Amino acid sequence: MRELIEELYPLCRSITGDGVRRTLEILARHVPLEIHEVASGTRVLDWEVPYEWNIREAWIAGPRGERVVDFAAHNLHVVSYSAPLRRRMSLEELRTHLHALPDRPDWIPYRTSYYQEDWGFCLTQKQLDALEPGEYEVCIDSSLAPGHLTWGECLLPGESDEEILLSAHVCHPSLCNDNLSGVAIAARLARERAGRRHRHGLRFLFAPGTIGAISWLARNRERVSRIRHGLTLTCLGDARPLTYKRTFSGDAPVDRAMRHVLRSRAREHQVVDYSPYGYDERQFNSPGLRLAVGSLMRGQSGRFPEYHTSADDLDFVLDGQLVDALEVLDEWIDLLEGDARYRNLSPDGEPQLGRRGLYRTLGGAGDPEELQLAMLWVLTVSDGSHTLLDAAERSGLRFATVRAAADLLLGHGLLELA
Ligand code: ZN
Repeated sequence: MRELIEELYPLCRSITGDGVRRTLEILARHVPLEIHEVASGTRVLDWEVPYEWNIREAWIAGPRGERVVDFAAHNLHVVSYSAPLRRRMSLEELRTHLHALPDRPDWIPYRTSYYQEDWGFCLTQKQLDALEPGEYEVCIDSSLAPGHLTWGECLLPGESDEEILLSAHVCHPSLCNDNLSGVAIAARLARERAGRRHRHGLRFLFAPGTIGAISWLARNRERVSRIRHGLTLTCLGDARPLTYKRTFSGDAPVDRAMRHVLRSRAREHQVVDYSPYGYDERQFNSPGLRLAVGSLMRGQSGRFPEYHTSADDLDFVLDGQLVDALEVLDEWIDLLEGDARYRNLSPDGEPQLGRRGLYRTLGGAGDPEELQLAMLWVLTVSDGSHTLLDAAERSGLRFATVRAAADLLLGHGLLELA
């Protein structure tokens, strides 16, 4: 994941253009990825796919001809979607197109102007303060022209038509936590899960934020109903504890599953209610769709100082945090995959486990005491209407232990699928 983030970090991504294409090409080396494109001007739900933006160089030269800001030094120096420009102007005029962070004088902010034609540069407050009065030359060698919007998609087919959606946005330039952490984790999960048997299809979507997800939804209206559970993956590498943002309904199986995984790991975390602010869970939970898509993150969008600044760099993302998030997602998928409703075939009174060799047995991994307890819970809930997740929630045991207990009981003819 670290290597992938390092490889993707220097690319100048935006909502369209070669930065996204190059990103998807690199991902396709790790993941069986299908690439899709939609032409500029195409109506997608209530939106229209914008012109494609690409940039070659951009700089500001000072009164003595010296380059005071240069896109070659950092992608964030140019406002994303800046229109092409080459002319001289006074510092006063130039200043109205410059963005800096007075409170963080060493950081470059990240700014975009996707849907309103404009141009601008982002720089550190220190660079801004050092600009001398005089005439400046400004060059933005970009193109804003009919082209395409691009996304990548990977479906690992399941035994049923039901799908789990994992979505990560791919539209941010050199920012690590906000978007590359999610991209790297999703790619790693797809790679690890490829070739394994799954009940649900696992659909991985790597699309530009908002317009990319909207384009995908517009092109996949008939497929959307297959999505049973989903997550957007964002900001998963910073030092903060995990935060799970619920779906709109707040009590979908995906919500219960994630809450249980986070609780049973007994690490600091928080679960927050849905809000129509953040990432593409906004599209998936909209009233016409109401897909059960939550969001897993650490730092929340707009709520950590490094958010959308050059300080969201390679050092801001920690390997251990990526691995921790990956483990949570693995457990969450295993839970959704393994949850089921059973019927206890010896439901009147407790079945005699000792006679069947199931009393304090060492059934695979884990603590035999816990396994024993898990068997009792599975037998208790298995009335044909409660699920293994009910047993896990009520007992506080990890789902994997409950699943192992159910497998033992199935092996001894004490359960059947309801
Ligand atoms: Zn962002």
